[in-house]
Amino acid sequence: MGELQYDFSGETVVVTGGASGIGRAVARRFGDAGATVLIADIREHPVDGAESTPTHELIEDNGGRAIFVETDVSDPDDVAAVVEASREFGGVDVMVNNAGIYREASLIETGTAAFDQVFAINVRGVFAGCRAAARQMLARDDPGCIVNTASISSEYAQVGHTMYDASKGAVMMITRVGALELAKHDIRVNAVAPGVIETTFGTDNPEIEQTNTDGFILESADIPEIGEQKVSADIPMDRMGTPDELAGSYLFLASEAASYVTGHLLYADGGYSIL
Ligand code: NAD
Repeated sequence: MGELQYDFSGETVVVTGGASGIGRAVARRFGDAGATVLIADIREHPVDGAESTPTHELIEDNGGRAIFVETDVSDPDDVAAVVEASREFGGVDVMVNNAGIYREASLIETGTAAFDQVFAINVRGVFAGCRAAARQMLARDDPGCIVNTASISSEYAQVGHTMYDASKGAVMMITRVGALELAKHDIRVNAVAPGVIETTFGTDNPEIEQTNTDGFILESADIPEIGEQKVSADIPMDRMGTPDELAGSYLFLASEAASYVTGHLLYADGGYSIL
């Protein structure tokens, strides 16, 4: 099967969480398609590879144009600053709000600080990105679009996922409300909802405190345990996806091919959401 080619020449794309995993693959694909890409992340190198080449250098090595802007998406001023930095390249045409973290605990064990941290990054970060990009787009004649990273967790509950599923449900609703409010301004807001993707997500992030539970330990653990086996058994394609397999969904939603698509959650999940 041939690969669909998109042309984003002359466009500027901001990708939060672009140093690693899905964001890295998305940023590279936009770079290959001719866009100027701003990598907005708390780190320059991938989570799992301090020695690995940073995403913006990979894009440049491939003949593209990219810069890294250190950004903590939980701080709305940081997010506004990276959108402001895009003015140097004509302003943001595509805002990809992708940075996110994962933490796991049963509802009754979930610690308040852990809950707040997940919401600060996964929800406030996406809100701040949508707001900053839309404000800038509204101020000029040439609107642009927003693509958020939601999840199968936006609509499908899993044991141990109170913090994460609630945050991704919020991302879905920010996407829908944003789409509704901005539609008449020709700003489309969509989301990709990945299934289980091969990244280091949730396993190796030094910024994440490992104590999720405020020290509350459940004595009688009468709660089913989530396990890898159950998750992979639920994937009709019977395998995890790769970041590269996800990237095309973002380019599609940001492209002219999707010019009448807004408020949509595009599942890229090997069929998980069918069941
Ligand atoms: P990842 O850990 O490989 O990459 C996440 C990136 O976000 C990292 O580069 C990290 O430094 C960055 N980041 C974390 N906190 C940040 C902050 N405060 N400010 C700026 N950047 C920050 O994970 P991934 O799997 O690529 O996840 C990307 C997105 O995809 C997340 O929103 C996640 O919820 C979503 N997602 C992942 C999966 C999966 O199975 N991997 C499934 C569904 C949804």
